[in-house]
Amino acid sequence: MLDRVRVVLVNTSHPGNIGGAARAMKNMGLTQLVLVDPERYPDPNAVARASGADDVLEQAHVVATLEEAIADCVLVMGTSARDRRIPWPVVDPREAAEKVMDQLGDDDSAQIALVFGREDSGLTSDELQRCQFHVHIPSNPEFSSLNLAAAVQVVAYELRMLSLQRQGQPTKMHKLETTNRQNEIPATAQELERYYEHLQQVLVEIGFLDPEKPRQLMPRLRRLYGRVRINQVEMNILRGILTETQKAIGVQATGERRR
Ligand code: SAH
Repeated sequence: MLDRVRVVLVNTSHPGNIGGAARAMKNMGLTQLVLVDPERYPDPNAVARASGADDVLEQAHVVATLEEAIADCVLVMGTSARDRRIPWPVVDPREAAEKVMDQLGDDDSAQIALVFGREDSGLTSDELQRCQFHVHIPSNPEFSSLNLAAAVQVVAYELRMLSLQRQGQPTKMHKLETTNRQNEIPATAQELERYYEHLQQVLVEIGFLDPEKPRQLMPRLRRLYGRVRINQVEMNILRGILTETQKAIGVQATGERRR
C-alpha cells in the first residue's frame, strides 16, 4: 500500500539531503521519490548519503514544478516547521499517518503525496495552499526546524508504524531467549511454595532468619516475589542459587550439615 505514497522534495539545495531522505524512506518501506527542480542532482553526495538506498534514488522522478509532482494525487500533505501566515488544518505526523492510511484503505487507486520544503525557507504560501493538510512535527518552538531528511524520517516512521498495526504485523522485534519456551511459562503455585520452603531453610542456615523470631520476613519476601511473575527459567536460577549457597556453607541440599 505504501507504494502509493510519494515523498516530494521541493527545490532541495543539498544533494546529501536527497540521499538522506531516500535512505529514511527505504528504511520505512517507502519507495516513490519525486524531486521538484533540485538544485544539484544527480550528485555523488546524494548517493553517498543514501547508503544503499540507491534504488530509491535511481527510480526518483525529477519534475519542474510541484504541480506536476502532485497532479494525480487525491491527498496532498505539506510539511512545515512553522507557518503562521495562513490558517490551515494542521496535523501532527501521527494524525497525518491516519489520514494517509484511511485514504489508502478507502480507495485502492489513491495516490498520495507528502511534500517537503527547501532547507532554508521551507514551502512557499502558494505551495502550502496546494496541500489539504499541513503536517507539523511538534518540535521545540525555539528551535523548530528539523533537517530535511530527519523530517522525512519522522513522518515516514509514523506511517510505517500505523501501516504495520493496521496489517496486524508486529511492531516489536521478537528476541527469543536462547534457552526455550520455559521463559514464557510462569512458575506454578507449587513450585513457588517449594521455593519459599527452600529459601526459608537457607535463611535459617545462614543465620539470617531466626526461627524463634521470624519477624514477618517470609511474608515480606513472598510479597516481594509476588510482585514479579517468576518464570520457569528464573525459578531454576533462584533454586540453583539456594543449592549453591548450601554447598558453600557445607550443608547438603537435604539440609544436613556435612562433616
Ligand atoms: N525555515 C524553514 C525550515 C525548513 S526545514 C521553515 O520554516 O519551514 C526543511 C523542511 O523540513 C521543511 O520545509 C519541512 O518540509 C521539513 N521540516 C523541518 N522541520 C519540520 C517540522 N518541525 N515539522 C514539519 N516539517 C518540518
